[in-house]
Amino acid sequence: MAAILVAQDLSAVGGISLSAAVPVLTAMQYEVAALPTSLLSTHTSGYGKPAVVDLSSWLPAVFDHWTRADLQFDAALIGYVGSVQLCQQLTQYLSRQPLDLLVVDPVLGDLGELYSGFDQQYVEAMRDLVKTADVILPNVTEAALLTGRPYQPVPDLRATLTALQAGLKPGAHAVITDVTREDRIGCAWLDERGAVQFVGEPRLPGHYNGTGDTLAAAIAGLLGRGFSLTRSLELANQWMHLAVAETLAERRTDPRQGIALAQMLRAILSLN
Ligand code: ATP
Ligand code: MG
Repeated sequence: MAAILVAQDLSAVGGISLSAAVPVLTAMQYEVAALPTSLLSTHTSGYGKPAVVDLSSWLPAVFDHWTRADLQFDAALIGYVGSVQLCQQLTQYLSRQPLDLLVVDPVLGDLGELYSGFDQQYVEAMRDLVKTADVILPNVTEAALLTGRPYQPVPDLRATLTALQAGLKPGAHAVITDVTREDRIGCAWLDERGAVQFVGEPRLPGHYNGTGDTLAAAIAGLLGRGFSLTRSLELANQWMHLAVAETLAERRTDPRQGIALAQMLRAILSLN
């Protein structure tokens, strides 16, 4: 069993981020270290202002303890971090780990806007963090922010991906995660020859919370299990389609809740 460290926010209610990543990666047979970077009573979409606990003084103590306890991780997935200082602390801690894989979902914004509480200094810290990654998973907005290119809902993928790749270490991959092509939604990246590749599934009606986080957990899990980038993105997008379809079919009474995971977990278990 490989050990994976997942660092992102934990929202008690809402079924996204850490709450979604843990079952997905557990089903993929990882030992999961679930590190909340911030604690929230709910996620931030639709419930009003959540009660938040800032964990920035706890996290350095966690890293100290883990170092004393000689814990080692084979892989890591970083999602929402929240502060410049914590980006730096995470980068420093992970640089001392014998990681085979570091996946970063550079959570910065969506729909052309930075998330509230983030500024240009935070974007800079994220640019430093992604330099250490093997794979980064920005959405279209985050790709614009990381590269300094103006936001366009339908960007020039080749130019944007080329600019993203320039900020990564050699051999690393940038994958844009919310690309629309005709009636499909999926991921775009550059192959070895610099050509844009796309995998996706039919877009289903509606907008859902937690799709980006769940997709990132699935991709990190598949890559860590040795699947190629292309195969990982194909499978992860198929699973996301199952999850969104299940969410639709359930006709949820509370649309704020993240996506339904049972069908996706079934598909993951059948892969094992
Ligand atoms: P976030 O906004 O959480 O950062 P993101 O913007 O990176 O996430 P999303 O738009 O949430 O990305 O999409 C992530 C993945 O979820 C897509 O690649 C797709 O696989 C799936 N997905 C999202 N919305 C839909 C939908 N309406 N129908 C089908 N699949 C979807
Ligand atoms: Mg999005």
